[in-house]
Amino acid sequence: MHIKSATFVMSNSDVAKCPKDKLPEYAFIGRSNVGKSSLINMLTNRKSLAKTSGRPGKTQLINHFLINDNWFLVDLPGYGYARVSKSTKKVFQKFITEYFEKRRQLITAFVLVDIRHKPQSIDLEFMEYLGLNGIPFSIVFTKADKLKPKAIEKHIEDYKNILLETWQDMPNYFVTSSSKNIGKDELLGYIDHLNNT
Ligand code: GDP
Repeated sequence: MHIKSATFVMSNSDVAKCPKDKLPEYAFIGRSNVGKSSLINMLTNRKSLAKTSGRPGKTQLINHFLINDNWFLVDLPGYGYARVSKSTKKVFQKFITEYFEKRRQLITAFVLVDIRHKPQSIDLEFMEYLGLNGIPFSIVFTKADKLKPKAIEKHIEDYKNILLETWQDMPNYFVTSSSKNIGKDELLGYIDHLNNT
C-alpha cells in the first residue's frame, strides 16, 4: 500500500466522541516505550505524526489519524493496570477496554511487544483480554534491529509456547524495526488485504 496522505483527526479519551465515520480502523497498542510512535511514523512515512516518547505533553488519549482518506490508524495510549477499588483484581484502564468493546469499526488490533524481552505478563494478559472478548489482533514485535536472527526466532518461539498453552493458534505476527525500516510492507500489505476483504 502506498501512503498518499496521513492526517491527524482528533484526540480524546471518550469512545463516544471518536469519529462517526464508518471507515475501517486499526488500533496500535503496547506498553509505553515499546516503539509505537516510531512504528506509526515509519508506516506513514512521517517523521513526527505520532509523538515519540522524548517529546513532552504526551497524554493518555485515543488518537485518530486518517490514512489515504479511507481508513483510520488509531494510536492508543500505553496500557497499564487500573486497580479495582477494594480488591486486588487488576483490570486495564477503562477507556481502553471501552474502546475495544464499543468501537464497531475496529478491524484488528496490533499489540506491540519489544522483541528483546521475554514474554511479560501484562502483554500476555492484554492478549488474553482481547482473545476472550473476540477482538482480532496481531502481534507486532518491535526493535528487531537490536537482536540477531537466531535470538529473534528464539523469542518468537517463547511467545508461541506460552500462547499455545491457552489458545489453539498463534496470532498473526510481524517482525519490525522502525530504525531499519523492517516489516513496513508486510504490515501495510496486511491492512490493505483486510481493507479489501
Ligand atoms: P512509544 O513510547 O511506544 O511511542 O515508543 P517510541 O516510538 O517513542 O520509542 C521509544 C524508544 O525506543 C525511543 O528511544 C526510540 O528511539 C526507540 N525505538 C523505537 N523503535 C525502535 C527500533 O525499531 N529500533 C531501535 N533500535 N530503537 C527503537
